[in-house]
Amino acid sequence: MEFEPVIGLEIHAQLLTDTKIFCGCSAKFGAAPNTHTCPVCLGMPGVLPVLNRKVVEFMIKMALATNCAVNRECNFARKNYFYPDLPKGYQISQYALPPAEHGWVDVEFDGRQKRIGITRIHMEEDAGKLMHDEHNPASYVDLNRTGVPLIEIVSEPDIRSAEEAAAYLRRLHEILVYLEICDGNMEEGSFRCDANISLRPRGTEPFGTRAELKNMNSFRNVQRALEYEIKRQQYVLEGGGQVVQETRLWDDTAGVTHSMRGKEEAHDYRYFPDPDLVPIVIDDAWIEEVRKAQPELPLEKRERFMRAYQIPAYDAGVLTTSRALADYYEEVVRLCGEPKIAANWVMGDILRFLNEEKRDIRECPIAPASLAGMIRLIQEGTINGKMAKEVSEAMYKSGKTPQAIIEEKGLVQITDEGALSETIAEIIGKNPAQVEQYRGGKDKVFGFFVGQAMKATQGKANPQMINDLLKKMLAG
Ligand code: ADP
Ligand code: MG
Ligand code: ZN
Repeated sequence: MEFEPVIGLEIHAQLLTDTKIFCGCSAKFGAAPNTHTCPVCLGMPGVLPVLNRKVVEFMIKMALATNCAVNRECNFARKNYFYPDLPKGYQISQYALPPAEHGWVDVEFDGRQKRIGITRIHMEEDAGKLMHDEHNPASYVDLNRTGVPLIEIVSEPDIRSAEEAAAYLRRLHEILVYLEICDGNMEEGSFRCDANISLRPRGTEPFGTRAELKNMNSFRNVQRALEYEIKRQQYVLEGGGQVVQETRLWDDTAGVTHSMRGKEEAHDYRYFPDPDLVPIVIDDAWIEEVRKAQPELPLEKRERFMRAYQIPAYDAGVLTTSRALADYYEEVVRLCGEPKIAANWVMGDILRFLNEEKRDIRECPIAPASLAGMIRLIQEGTINGKMAKEVSEAMYKSGKTPQAIIEEKGLVQITDEGALSETIAEIIGKNPAQVEQYRGGKDKVFGFFVGQAMKATQGKANPQMINDLLKKMLAG
């Protein structure tokens, strides 16, 4: 029997607010353990949480970018469970009515476009973090992360393969980073994904029993974990067994998933509205305000680049992978007026230099004005293509302008007609025998004169001018 995977993803994105969701503590990553804490985020009795307005604004940004309907009123709920990284004994989350729902995003993969539904987006607080020391049989708890704002984005079970899941994940990651509401750092846990997966016989409707996969901290791991899990479930089903509904952990080193715990149901959490927080009211004016401030999103930018700059879809895709890269490219084009040539240089040398050193475009030593200047110098014939390669490398190493490098290295093509004429006259004067031969009809001797002229100018003469001048002057 052939099985079809059914996959739905739950994504947790840490929001880039300065402070936590219900208190004034810093939400920054990486501080010494337990230094970003106060009675509110430590969950002391009697404290009162106050909602950070930025969190709602960021949630609305993501809702609009993923075509969700924004609900005008919603509330926070307590999700009750015990864990040592959760001192209150409950997480403040949202349950019955989410602030945003019924959205979608389009993803491209395998050359096809596919629409993936978004069930809901809601806001919640993060829990703390347990740290384990291999050499010491103890668990340490760091509560800096308690109360850091998250949005959870739940997809419809619309995904049908591991590659499609990775493509969807990349798209959401790209949108969050473009909106500048999440730094997208998967290693630091600011972008996390749980994957729900079940199999069903191909051609049938009802979903099978799902497993939930956790602990995947890269796009590649999500894809690998899903590929493994598809095979595992297939093996179970083909052997006449049943998939157990459970939470499984991905083991990156071993390349397998293993059971962590039985799957808890919503009623296990005894959700109820948080009595300490008033309902959140989002009016039309607020949504409009956020909509007006939305940046251009990746797909829109891609389409505009293709239209405005007449560059291929591939180029537009590469050049819009980040806002900073797109801005860099647009600045180069604005300054040199050559969209396709600029695209080639940015995608070629610039990205290659940066990739070699794992640097971001924002750290690129070549300023857009320098690259644009170099492109203009090629277009004007001041330097040739081969010289340009040398110039771009030197610009990257030194951060100097193309003009400075050309002068330093003496790279300028000689296009001064007077100077070239003088050189050629000298060569003609010194080689009367060859002149005689040429004038007598021996065309091949022309090559000898070109060679002499290039030698005399150390290869810097503009080849076309040498040709033209030689023809004219040898003719007598
Ligand atoms: P919870 O994890 O809290 O139980 P949900 O029931 O809302 O959450 O489902 C979480 C995710 O699992 C959603 O992305 C949904 O699309 C997906 N999902 C639900 N049922 C299945 C299934 N049978 N197979 C695969 N994915 C599923
Ligand atoms: Mg879940
Ligand atoms: Zn606090």
